[in-house]
Amino acid sequence: MSEQELNGAILQRDKRTYAIVPRTPLGLVTPEILESIARAARKFDIPIIKITSGQRIALVGIEPDKVADVWQDMALEVGRAVEPCMHYVQACPGTEVCKFGQQDSLGLGARLDKEFVGMELPGKAKIGVSGCPMNCGESYVRDFGCFGKKNGWTVGGNAGAKPRIGDVIAEDVSDDEVVALAAKYFDYYKANAKPKERTSKFVNRVGIEEVKKAILC
Ligand code: SF4
Repeated sequence: MSEQELNGAILQRDKRTYAIVPRTPLGLVTPEILESIARAARKFDIPIIKITSGQRIALVGIEPDKVADVWQDMALEVGRAVEPCMHYVQACPGTEVCKFGQQDSLGLGARLDKEFVGMELPGKAKIGVSGCPMNCGESYVRDFGCFGKKNGWTVGGNAGAKPRIGDVIAEDVSDDEVVALAAKYFDYYKANAKPKERTSKFVNRVGIEEVKKAILC
């Protein structure tokens, strides 16, 4: 059975069982989501539940014939995990709760999530949003990232199997400008990257100055 047929399930190292990842935008969960996951894990005897680096909860080690039943039982939205598209936005708590926060990373993260998650792209992509230059949202090593400073957002970022530290492409910009820059960047990437070319390789190939020229005009 293909991963597509298995609704985005990820074949594991044993080449038999699968992992699935419910969508939990920005890593925010509710008691109901956690109860759904816990109930399904008990019912289907799922051996591993793992918090991922992308602030998602992976259920690992599911037999192929049980994948659909687990999804149905949890009744949670499917998180994209294998397709070439925008997989998720991760965000730190920012001004919502963190005393160091200088910008509302959860607010901007929610906007970026709504705008870009699921967008079809040449390769997998992820966004990181941090509320201050300490970058707990891993903004510098995501395909697109931004972090807050007193006067606005600093925008850059890049990632992949061969990550490169992100280049700063704009400073002191507003929420609206971050969303607009992300749209221009991903449109440019979509139009110019080779199939399966991750953003880090893509930017290395075309050159950061070309990227800046295309999206800062
Ligand atoms: S990046 Fe800054 S605002 Fe966000 S959690 Fe870390 S210290 Fe707090």
